[in-house]
Amino acid sequence: MKALVYHGPGQKSWDDVPDPTVTDPTDIVVQVDTSTICGTDLHILKGDVPTVEQGRLLGHEAVGTVVATGAAVTSLAEGDRVIIPAITSCGRCANCKRAMPSHCLAVGGVGWIFGHLIDGLQAEYARVPFAETSVHKVPEGVTDTQVLFLTDILPTGYEVGVRNGRVKPGDTVAVVGAGPVGLAAIMTCGLHGASRVIAIDKAASRLEHAKQFGAGYTINADDDVDAALAELTDGQGVDVAIEAVGVPETFETCARIVRPGGVVANIGVHGASATLHLEELWIKNITITTGLVDTVTVPMLLQLVRDGRIRAEMFGTHDFALDKIMDAYDVFANAAEHNALKVVLKR
Ligand SMILES: [Zn+2]
Ligand SMILES: [Zn+2]
Repeated sequence: MKALVYHGPGQKSWDDVPDPTVTDPTDIVVQVDTSTICGTDLHILKGDVPTVEQGRLLGHEAVGTVVATGAAVTSLAEGDRVIIPAITSCGRCANCKRAMPSHCLAVGGVGWIFGHLIDGLQAEYARVPFAETSVHKVPEGVTDTQVLFLTDILPTGYEVGVRNGRVKPGDTVAVVGAGPVGLAAIMTCGLHGASRVIAIDKAASRLEHAKQFGAGYTINADDDVDAALAELTDGQGVDVAIEAVGVPETFETCARIVRPGGVVANIGVHGASATLHLEELWIKNITITTGLVDTVTVPMLLQLVRDGRIRAEMFGTHDFALDKIMDAYDVFANAAEHNALKVVLKR
């Protein structure tokens, strides 16, 4: 088969590689029908994720069709269409049992293994471990593009942003960073009854996207953010500040704009230390949360997608054939220039 192979920092190619096979009884093998590229893949290609070895097939977000099942698999059969989330769950370890498969112990303590610790989903076929406790069948009448972004960005924005941020009816929520994950938080804020959703970003094009995804207010990060927020919140600050960039500056912005008693929910993947101003924060009764997505809300999000309550397909701005993945990487890596959110790769 063909697959996107990581050959070390800055190096990737669409290569001939051996077909995957069932190796453990709980495995399935899928033919990948639809896949996508993640910001994390770009981090890997920069060399930021040293746990990814050379020769690894990348990708951790896909929808596929089952073509083979292991001996222990009874609830999935050849021909089933399945969503393959970024997180693998054994369903049995202590962390999976506390609904935290992001730290599944059976796969090494971090549930993100596709395109990281095992071969990934930017490929014509893929082996999927612990299939029955990890994948979700696609309901009839629902397209791949409608569910593709349930594999990672939508549950990430919802679980790590909205849910960890304890958004509740009437809240004013600021989302700092309107890239795909920030937009996912914006899109799902309404599920918890947020009253005002404010998108903050430096790029005017992203703020335009934010309005389409449900932000009622936008603030350019180059303007006076604090003054604009003070006006919107009677000087109180926001109930929930969601960080969706991953740099010190935006985290510190969130800690500054949250009201007393509010929540800072960090989603961003940070590579450098941020300053926590405890000398100002100690008296504010705030909560700070962090997290890796568990993807435990995929079944719930899937029902909302099926019933048209969430239009997850809006994230897919550029379509490519799977074998044109090198071109898709070029567009995704220069997303601003192409006004791209996520690419959709179809076989
Ligand atoms: Zn991802
Ligand atoms: Zn587990």
